Amino acid sequence: MKKIPYGRQNITDEDIQAVVETLKGDWLTQGPKIGEFEKAFAEYVGAKYAVAVSNGTAALHLCTLALGVNKNDKVITTPITFAASANCVRYARGEVVFADIDPETYLLDINEVEKLLKAAPKGTYKGIIPVDFAGRAVDMEAFRNLADEYGCWLIEDACHAPGGYFTDSKGNIQNCGNGQFADLAIFSFHPVKHIAAGEGGMITTNDEVLYRKLLNLRTHGIQQDASKKIYDHGGWYYEMQELGFNYRLTDIQSALGLSQLQRAEQGIEKRREIAKKYHQKLQETSFIKGQSGVVPGHAYHLYVIETENRKELFDYFRSLNVIVQIHYVPLHLMPYYRQFGWKEGDFPNAENYYEHCLSIPMYPTLTDEEQAYVIDEINTFYSEKLSTVNHL
Ligand SMILES: *Cc1c(COP(=O)(O)O)cnc(C)c1O
Repeated sequence: MKKIPYGRQNITDEDIQAVVETLKGDWLTQGPKIGEFEKAFAEYVGAKYAVAVSNGTAALHLCTLALGVNKNDKVITTPITFAASANCVRYARGEVVFADIDPETYLLDINEVEKLLKAAPKGTYKGIIPVDFAGRAVDMEAFRNLADEYGCWLIEDACHAPGGYFTDSKGNIQNCGNGQFADLAIFSFHPVKHIAAGEGGMITTNDEVLYRKLLNLRTHGIQQDASKKIYDHGGWYYEMQELGFNYRLTDIQSALGLSQLQRAEQGIEKRREIAKKYHQKLQETSFIKGQSGVVPGHAYHLYVIETENRKELFDYFRSLNVIVQIHYVPLHLMPYYRQFGWKEGDFPNAENYYEHCLSIPMYPTLTDEEQAYVIDEINTFYSEKLSTVNHL
């Protein structure tokens, strides 16, 4: 069997053609493809504005700047996420406060967040960064209500969930990153995510003020709106009004992202089919605790199982060239975050999840045969190999 990764990009001839056409054109870095990609992406998630940036981490960084995170500002997020969700707070010299996950959804537990907010004087916490972990949509309406009560802003880290959604209290479908509830949402176009652009990121919002601010911050803090300049020296004059960065995406990457976006919905459908099959085949096994059924609106960036003997199963799969992975080592246990006093035992649900979780292959081009192989090998492992596991 050839190597089966846990996730992988799918580049078609049309994608390649789109990139080649851009290379032959007049623009390599920020040109017309950026605007096209932003517009199409905003439409896809149902937000008013989108700002393309160089990667998801840059997107998070610009969000914390646009929202005015300052030294020692406290921001709450989940320990079960990629490091960038928390690091962006540190870039602005804020303080990261973790709260435990819900053991059923693996998402930041809103009750734990509420406990923190309740226990501190109002204004202590500036913001909350919930993550649509694995592709499962956070109930952003509930977070908005809580955030409003305590004067917090909300950044939705939707890197795992373009095309994901939840149903709000009125029965309406709310797409991840649609700007209805979160102030800002961010996405990544790293090859392992749903839409690959090599590297790339996107911020979506319905807030025009934040949108304009992000456009400036993306390019060194240079005012992008000519009518907002303070001075005028002549036709050559550009004006830097605040400290920004070069976080631009290139037209080459945008062409690829735009081409990939055309197949995004198809990809999600395939991911949901794969999830359904995993669920059907694994739910009867006593050794796997999968998520409780196939969740509507789940974008299935990852398919996570929980199991005893996780380390042995991980090693077994790796020996078969099935590149399973662990998402994630809890952030509060990273040496960098331990220096702030976080330690084992702080978040029992996150730590218990980490002891048992395994991301098994999930991507649209995973074939039926490959998926069947993965499922068979899980069964083989528990029925035959586990007793001799030390000899593997
Ligand atoms: C990938 C990812 C990021 C960062 O995106 P990059 O494009 O790799 O910088 C942030 N948060 C989450 C949850 C991610 O999965």
